[in-house]
Amino acid sequence: MAAFTGGEVYKAEFEPTAYLEYFKIGGGTLGDEFLTFVLKHYCKTFTSGHAAWGRGDDHLEPFFNPNLTDIGSGPTIYQLLSACESFKEIIASDYIDQNCQELLKWLKNEPGAFDWTPVVQHVRELEGDRNKWAEKERNLRGAIKHVLKCDVHESNPLDPVVLPPADCLVSSLCLEAACKDQSSYRAALRNISSLLKPGGHLVLSGDLGTSFYVEFDVLSRDDDTMQEICHFSGMYFIVAHKEKAI
Ligand code: SAH
Repeated sequence: MAAFTGGEVYKAEFEPTAYLEYFKIGGGTLGDEFLTFVLKHYCKTFTSGHAAWGRGDDHLEPFFNPNLTDIGSGPTIYQLLSACESFKEIIASDYIDQNCQELLKWLKNEPGAFDWTPVVQHVRELEGDRNKWAEKERNLRGAIKHVLKCDVHESNPLDPVVLPPADCLVSSLCLEAACKDQSSYRAALRNISSLLKPGGHLVLSGDLGTSFYVEFDVLSRDDDTMQEICHFSGMYFIVAHKEKAI
């Protein structure tokens, strides 16, 4: 089995622009298959599912502002496009500076920022109105309040920042990239769950059995043998609910 790509290698070698090539929807890449799958589920979860806060939930107080934290955002925003309809306070985070910078470039609409328009249009179509994609971009830019450094191996992954517990946590393709085996995966899951309010939702998505993407070795979730480059054996989308303390 090839060596696991550790944090230092990520810091030195992860290239956000190379990674973003996978998110050019319609290009017939592996990213297409993944995006089509997860965007459908994010849409269902955040516009009609349990995590659709503030939508017809009449027990919520009128000025209650539900908040969401995305762990290991990388340079991507697809995972937040449906969520920003319900969550007006979003924190994005990543382990490496170059991803935070790439994300900030899009947030500030700077020249050279990745063009998410086709993905945003796809999400608007799923939500029932393709025409309002520019409004969605504006909404998401307004909702993301901070882009923070994060390490899922720390007991407070956002250290030194201490946030009030989130109503919802999202993490996509991150834990399998950050964790070399199942015990570090479990520990990281415990660490990020500490950021979640009792009664809140954890939304995890990714691919199963990933061995490699964008030249990075990641934890294979179903067995630990290396598979062909850029192959995954399935995708997952999980919505979990953190129990309220009794
Ligand atoms: N969430 C994005 C990016 C996934 S790529 C998406 O869905 O496409 C994996 C991400 O995990 C990278 O951005 C990498 O910087 C981040 N990562 C790697 N080690 C990490 C760690 N220890 N803590 C938090 N994030 C980590």
